[in-house]
Amino acid sequence: GGVLFQHADKYNGKLLGGLLADGFDETACASRYSSFLYRKISLHKPSSYLISRLRSYEDLHKRCGPNTQSYNKALEQLKSGKKIMGLTDCNYIVWISFSGLGNRILSLASTFLYALLTNRVLLVDQGKDMADLFCEPFPDKSWLLPRDFPLIDQFDSLNQNSPNCHGNMLKNNITTMSPSLFLIPSFETELSKLFPEKATVFHHLGRYLFHPSNHVWGLITRYYRTYLAKADERIGIQIRIFDSRRGPFKHVMDQILSCTLKEKLLPAVDMQDSVVNPSENAKLKAVLVTSLLSGYSEDLRNMYWEHPTMTGEVVGVYQPSHEEFQQTEKQMHNRKAWAEMYLLSLTDVLVTSAWSTFGYVAQGLGGLRPWILYKTENDTARVRLYQLVKGEVDPHSELLLVTFQFSGHSIDAQISLLSTSLTNSVLDIFFE
Ligand code: GDP
Repeated sequence: GGVLFQHADKYNGKLLGGLLADGFDETACASRYSSFLYRKISLHKPSSYLISRLRSYEDLHKRCGPNTQSYNKALEQLKSGKKIMGLTDCNYIVWISFSGLGNRILSLASTFLYALLTNRVLLVDQGKDMADLFCEPFPDKSWLLPRDFPLIDQFDSLNQNSPNCHGNMLKNNITTMSPSLFLIPSFETELSKLFPEKATVFHHLGRYLFHPSNHVWGLITRYYRTYLAKADERIGIQIRIFDSRRGPFKHVMDQILSCTLKEKLLPAVDMQDSVVNPSENAKLKAVLVTSLLSGYSEDLRNMYWEHPTMTGEVVGVYQPSHEEFQQTEKQMHNRKAWAEMYLLSLTDVLVTSAWSTFGYVAQGLGGLRPWILYKTENDTARVRLYQLVKGEVDPHSELLLVTFQFSGHSIDAQISLLSTSLTNSVLDIFFE
């Protein structure tokens, strides 16, 4: 009691405003119906149209999923290479496991959206660990592609260099279809009915699809209850530095401190140590740092141990893991990465790193408006703040059209959405 959030009604609590279907086995996937205890109710409601399309997708998946009569017939057709007339109304899209976990989660959400828009059935290449990381999202029939799927041994060659890669097909004029769902005119009406708030696409689809498996849910809940639940405020800081040299770097630490202190996300410390006794009811802030390296959070933790804060608050700094470098084949590595993305999504205030899908996933699942650490270049980090005063998504180009203001100047700019995960049309971005 007192540790987790309480929500009165089942529909808005456990079923996430109707996003989730009722009736799943709760022991097979503990996270599905208990994630709501760890979050405030989302400010973004799924549209009733999205809810009804998800329920009809679930029916389609049940009818066409692995090992159904329709699936078996489709396999026969695939093996024979011939179109068999009057076969079935089941069409499929297969998602292939590839790249880091954040990239995988985003591409899988996009693939599911494409499946919704074209009435296809989504099947997921299990790769090494998809089943280990995620619960089944659809009732009755698995979303995992059976291991005896005939083309499975060709998957490794279907990468960015393959002539069948969409980008290469565009380059070679084999197709002229945009790669971008929001550029396809025939999807426009449907997309706006599904998602009247365009920037919430990943927020809804992500919470519908990605339920941590029981192993990963254990990592998440044990960590949350031990280090984060009792805090008055939780602050997430995701540090992802794209640099071939080994960090930690001083200019990155300076940027993090300068930005978080300036925006009062973290309290400043009193270097004179003049405050001796923190008050009885001093507020407790818990800072969750995720990074491949331990150096940044160690510096932060020492700072708050060695000096009192100016506000009298006390600050705990926690970092679940420091895996040193990105690994793709190790099971526990990806479990931890997924747990950390999810933990970040449970914070109240989130700082992410530019260009990282790891941070996008956290922000999107949480429905948070993140502060973004600008990418460092030539060992300098941009630390001044521009406030975004206006931002809207241009439906025709997937660009975010924005106006920044700084010292009375206003600057118009365009930002590529890169993903559908921006959850708010107004961002605050740090740069000089
Ligand atoms: P992106 O490269 O930042 O867009 O994110 P991806 O998730 O696609 O790829 C980065 C991968 O590196 C992750 O999936 C993890 O395997 C690893 N990684 C990067 N940052 C962290 C971190 O803070 N914690 C953990 N556990 N792994 C990380």
